[in-house]
Amino acid sequence: MELILGKTAGFCYGVKTAVEKSIETIKNNGSTCCLGEIVHNKKVVKEIKDMGMHFIDKLEENTEKVNTIIRAHGVSKKIYDDADKNNIKLIDLTCPNVLKIHKIVSDYKEKDYYIFLIGTKLHPETIGTAGFCGEHFSIIEDQGDLQKSIESLKKSKKENLLVAVQTTFSLDKFLMLTDIIKNDLKNDIKNIEIANTICNATKTRQEETEQISKKVDYMIIIGGKNSSNTKKLYEIAKKNCNNTICIESYKEIEKNNIKDKNIIGIMAGASTPQSSIDEVIELVKNT
Ligand code: SF4
Repeated sequence: MELILGKTAGFCYGVKTAVEKSIETIKNNGSTCCLGEIVHNKKVVKEIKDMGMHFIDKLEENTEKVNTIIRAHGVSKKIYDDADKNNIKLIDLTCPNVLKIHKIVSDYKEKDYYIFLIGTKLHPETIGTAGFCGEHFSIIEDQGDLQKSIESLKKSKKENLLVAVQTTFSLDKFLMLTDIIKNDLKNDIKNIEIANTICNATKTRQEETEQISKKVDYMIIIGGKNSSNTKKLYEIAKKNCNNTICIESYKEIEKNNIKDKNIIGIMAGASTPQSSIDEVIELVKNT
């Protein structure tokens, strides 16, 4: 049996930095809160929680006003303002790629553009970025959101439109949506700016997943059940290889399903720790 492991599998640099700095902070500063799960991975969250990190969902839960970590996904402008008002020091571990999108949408908002933010509506990164878009914006997750968004844009009477995208969104889907937007609005909007803000780490990982899944007869995607970038890797692989599974832990692998396979591919999402990948490799090799 041959095993193909994705070179881009596992922590991206944004997540790696956030996890390392969180551990460093908890060791050096003691009592610390983290707004939301540090990464979409139960194993990593548990490890950091066991070190003493308090995970909170809202800033108000930080009643003792201890230092609070902002994870790689980033937060809305309101959170920065609220922390300031309440004298809570933020340790901002927002990935630089996400900060770049905050800056882009803020700049275009100031230039009076309407903003289409393409992304998963309930994803914390999208919610955070939306908080920098001002009043005139729409979130577009799929084709079904287009008509309503176009109506809101026309109602706003804005002449210019910026389209930005969540860092971990599917490139194919983004290109498909922007083509429709450009085509539908070419006669109505003076200027349409497209900012492809999908991060390179995501793009490369998705491309590698596409390539590997075409060569294998079984594909394993490792990542948290609530990790949006992992879900996208699964969708990409499943198109090419019907025998694709998405797992959080090696324990979910049915040995019987892999023992007769010739080539097995392994890929992991941006929030999957190396230890989870190693466990899967070990199991596959010993089957
Ligand atoms: S996927 Fe990209 S944007 Fe998101 S944390 Fe990783 S490096 Fe940053």
